[in-house]
Amino acid sequence: MYDYLIVGSGLYGATCAYELKKRGKKVLVIEKREHIGGNIYTEKMHGIQVHRYGAHIFHTNSKELWDYINQFADFNRYTNSPTANYRGKIYNLPFNMNTFYQLWGTSTPQQAMAKITEQRAEIGDRKPKNLEEQAISLVGRDIYEILIKGYTEKQWGRPASELPAFIIKRLPVRFTYDNNYFNDRFQGIPIGGYTQIVEKMLDGIEVRLNTDYFAERSDHNALAKKVIYSGAIDRYFDYRYGKLEYRSLRFENEVVDTPNIQGNAVVNYTDKEVPYTRIIEHKHFDPVESSRSVITREYPVEWQDGMEPYYPVNNEQNNALYRRYRELSKAEEKVFFGGRLAEYRYYDMHQVIASALKDLQSML
Ligand code: FAD
Ligand code: UDP
Repeated sequence: MYDYLIVGSGLYGATCAYELKKRGKKVLVIEKREHIGGNIYTEKMHGIQVHRYGAHIFHTNSKELWDYINQFADFNRYTNSPTANYRGKIYNLPFNMNTFYQLWGTSTPQQAMAKITEQRAEIGDRKPKNLEEQAISLVGRDIYEILIKGYTEKQWGRPASELPAFIIKRLPVRFTYDNNYFNDRFQGIPIGGYTQIVEKMLDGIEVRLNTDYFAERSDHNALAKKVIYSGAIDRYFDYRYGKLEYRSLRFENEVVDTPNIQGNAVVNYTDKEVPYTRIIEHKHFDPVESSRSVITREYPVEWQDGMEPYYPVNNEQNNALYRRYRELSKAEEKVFFGGRLAEYRYYDMHQVIASALKDLQSML
């Protein structure tokens, strides 16, 4: 008999497992994939650490969380500064003085602000109702049309006018010549990849791979006093109220015979004609000398059974459905729900760790 059965070996499950073991608890982790780590999994290809489930950059404002993750790996000083390719022309991201210069030829913050003020007048002082209005209100129509609309509608498969405003607020808008994608105090990539972090977290803990919780649900439940579930919440309740919507991704990897093909780790393709949203060149995250390079194109698709659900689609309808599932989850006395899928939240890695550490108090 285990004290805890943890469903999912992603960052949420692994953080819980590590902390519980530290407190003397007997833990079993089951994972339906053939490897640990969930979406932060990285693997070596041609000497290069490849982010199998999309680019992952660790960033946080919290010293405590930065120290926490640094227990498990050494981090480099990588700063994410993606570029955008719109119909062959390159722009800097996030939206900053370089971008404004490239678009409008403005060279001072006052000139750029004047341009944005003029362009956001169509929204005025009203509270933006959706992503489109929020974007125009933040940076004006030109940037919306060139750098946001095409990318967003490919990524989410829905009109920007039907998406929640908060999604675009993830991106900084700055009146300095600073291409850092994040405002956080701490940022980096673990040297040698993310998988080692989860390996260290799960060191000495029994893990069963290729094991789906639902394949033998009652047998699995019988193994432990308590269950920590980090899979999709609607699946847990057999889609009783219907399915939540997710976006999935198809990753197309290519090995190229050149040491440096795009000069940057992340290039976003912001026009709607190019079917992928971004190309990742992995070696720029954790640099290595090699004559070849590995790139990945990301094609967004609507989630269907059998695919990985990567992004919750947090519009009002799905959030309302999620709340109904959340009510059901409260009645599951020995089960704790957490992580990106069980909470149906667009969590970054640092937020998942913070949430696991907080949830732990009620799990003990
Ligand atoms: P997951 O990693 O999804 O782990 C859940 C695990 O549970 C999976 O391994 C799954 O296989 C397993 N599981 C599910 N159901 C079952 C079942 N029935 N039985 C057994 N096992 C099951 N965050 C950042 O901070 N920076 C970034 O740059 C960043 N980039 C991202 C890019 C992409 C494309 C994506 C999709 C996410 C990105 N994130 C980023 C977010 C980050 O991936 C998540 O915050 C984090 O991985 C969530 O961890 P988790 O454990 O909640 O979920
Ligand atoms: N976004 C955009 N253009 C870009 C990059 C991002 O319009 O070049 C929008 C898009 O809606 C995206 C959101 O900003 O979903 C958040 O971007 P982020 O890079 O944080 O997405 P993630 O890395 O989580 O996929």
